[in-house]
Amino acid sequence: MTANTSQSDATPTANIAKTTVPPLRLPQVLLDDLRAHGEETWPRECCGALLGKFGPEGWQIETLVRATNARADSAHDRYEIAPAELVEIAQEARRRGLEIVGFYHSHPDHPAQWSATDLAEAHWLGASYVITEVAQGKAALTRAWLLSGTSEEDKCFAAQEIRIEGR
Ligand SMILES: [Zn+2]
Repeated sequence: MTANTSQSDATPTANIAKTTVPPLRLPQVLLDDLRAHGEETWPRECCGALLGKFGPEGWQIETLVRATNARADSAHDRYEIAPAELVEIAQEARRRGLEIVGFYHSHPDHPAQWSATDLAEAHWLGASYVITEVAQGKAALTRAWLLSGTSEEDKCFAAQEIRIEGR
C-alpha cells in the first residue's frame, strides 16, 4: 500500500504525489459508533479496527470492530489490541472479504492529536489511525492520520481528511 518514490527523484510531480493523502471514506453510522465507543469507555481509552475494501475511489470503510483495550488500566495514552484478538479480527475480515484498513482509539480529556507513544506503537504502514477526543464523557473532535513512510525509521503520521459518506 505504500508508494515508494526514489530519493533522487526531485521533480515537483513526485513531491506532490508524496504529500497527497487520500481521504478516509467513512459512513456516518460508523463514525457515530466509533465516537459512542469512546464515550462508553470514558475515562478509559477505547480501541478497535476499521475494516474495508479497495474500490475505484480508494479505501472504503465497511465496518468497524470494537476491541478490548489490553492496557486500559495502565498509564495514560496507552492502547493495545491483544495479539489473539487481532488475529480474530483479521479472520473476520477475511470471512467478509475485507481487509484491516486502520485502527481507532480515544483520547479521554485530551486532544485528538497523535502522541509520541501512538507513533512509536503504530506499525501498519499505509493504515489509517483515527483518534477521537472524549471530553468529560462526550465525544469531541475526531481526526484521522495516515501512517506514511516506507519503514520503522522514516514512518510518520500525515493528517488525513475524514470524508463522511451517507448511510
Ligand atoms: Zn493516543
